[in-house]
Parts: sequence; C-alpha cells; structure tokens
Amino acid sequence: MGKLIEQAADIIINSKSTIALTGAGISVESGIPDFRSAGGLWEKFDPAEYASISAFRSDPEKIWEMLREMDSVVRGARPNSAHIGMGELEKMGYLHYVITQNIDNLHQEGGTKNVIEYHGNSSTLSCLWCGKSYQAEEKRGEHPPRCECQKILKPDVIFFGEAIPQEAMSRSFQLASSAHALMVVGTSAAVSPANTIPGIAKQNGAKVIEINKEITHLTGTLTDIFLQGSAGEIISVLVDAVKRKGK
Ligand code: NAD
Repeated sequence: MGKLIEQAADIIINSKSTIALTGAGISVESGIPDFRSAGGLWEKFDPAEYASISAFRSDPEKIWEMLREMDSVVRGARPNSAHIGMGELEKMGYLHYVITQNIDNLHQEGGTKNVIEYHGNSSTLSCLWCGKSYQAEEKRGEHPPRCECQKILKPDVIFFGEAIPQEAMSRSFQLASSAHALMVVGTSAAVSPANTIPGIAKQNGAKVIEINKEITHLTGTLTDIFLQGSAGEIISVLVDAVKRKGK
C-alpha cells in the first residue's frame, strides 16, 4: 500500500488539473449509510421504491417518511477526515474540483470550495407545481412541508428518473475532458450518468486513482491506482504524502 500511496501522491503533485468524483461511501464514516450499508435507513426504505420521482409524484406523503429520517441523519453528520483531507488538497492547490453525487453538504463543511453537486442538495425545497423555493430549515416543523399553494414540497435532490441539473452536467463534462488526474472516492459508479465521468476523463488521458473499501467495475479496467480501504484513513495518508513530497 505504501508504494501505491507514493505513486498516487506523485500523480497528484504533477497533475495540472485534478478533479474528484465522490459518492455515498465518503460519508459513511460520518454516519450516513450508503445504499449498501447493513442496517440503517436503506434497509428500512428500499431506494428503488422510495427514491424515484414517479414514487414522489404519486405519493409524496409516503416518500416524506423516508425524507424525514434521511434529513435527521444528514443534519447530525459532520465532515470526516476524507472530506477535510480533500479540503486541504484544494487549499494547497492540488485539487481543483470535487464533483459529488452526495446531497449532504459535507464537502463544503469540510473546507472544499469548488464543489459540483451532481445530484443536488437537501438544504432547499421546491414546489413542483408553482416553482417556489424554500430553505429546508424554515419548513422543518411541518410534516410534510407544504408550499404556500398547499402542494407538498420536494427537496432539491435528484431522484431516480429526474434530469441532472444542466449546469452541473456540462461543467462536469468539461472538467472531466481536461483533467490530468481523477480521484474516484467511495462510489460504486453504478448510477448513470455520473458513472460516465471516469470514462470521459480516462479517454482524455487522465490518470485514475480509485479509493474504495471494495473493488468496483472500474477497478482493473479504468483505474490506474486502486487504494483499498476506508476513505478517511486512505485520504489522510495520501494528504500527508502530498505534503511531504510537494513543494
Ligand atoms: P453506493 O451506495 O452505490 O456505493 C458506495 C460505495 O462506497 C461502494 O462502492 C462501497 O464499497 C464504498 N464505501 C463504503 N464505505 C466506504 C468507506 N468508508 N470508504 C471508502 N469507500 C466506501 O453509492 P454511490 O455510488 O454514491 O451511488 C448511490 C447514490 O445514492 C448516489 O446517487 C448518491 O447521490 C446517493 N446517496 C447519497 C448519500 C449522501 O449524500 N451521503 C447517501 C446515500 C446515497
């Protein structure tokens, strides 16, 4: 592992443009379960049943049972050493953008400024009918939260079956096309279209560093360096190596 960390650090130090694609796995150590974690939220609420836009449209009150629990898990979470380490890499000038599939705001709380939220953010709510927006905070006492037009509000996160925000999609494509290095952290890369980002970067010559507890379909195909383990532990060691070897 030590040698692989050194190689990954060299790639990051020598890259003119490094971006990261992160997924639910990076927030597991903050107490937010990914879709695979045993126990917790997703054992109670099957994402296939609760996380689609058609389910929300047909029975928003039912989906709010899941959203309310998710909100309390996300609200209590704090950035872990992986989020903080990525913030440090950005500050040192070695990480230029984080594209995250997460909706938990932990990259920003961990100190990263350049974050693209590919699947939106749970801190605001919108009305699908009249378009009015609210801060989630101001509606926290209401179950389910309603718009002034009396329709049930939806958090501004992307449900299965919804389009990715155009700006996030085009900016991510642009960044992936010109990146020299891509860190892929805590994602199974199973959810489309976010999972096209590693292929776009690789095709354009980027080195791919994958950090995950388990192998994925990228490991051994697209990935140049696979660092197996928990994101918090690996990123802390990687940041130390970059500090030691960098200018
Ligand atoms: P996923 O659940 O499909 O995969 C998570 C990956 O993280 C797995 O490959 C797993 O091996 C790895 N992992 C788990 N714990 C880890 C750790 N401590 N360190 C390193 N790797 C770890 O997640 P996904 O690929 O992000 O796709 C699921 C979708 O669910 C995404 O669209 C995401 O928006 C959404 N989601 C978000 C959150 C969040 O905001 N925190 C939580 C759950 C799901």
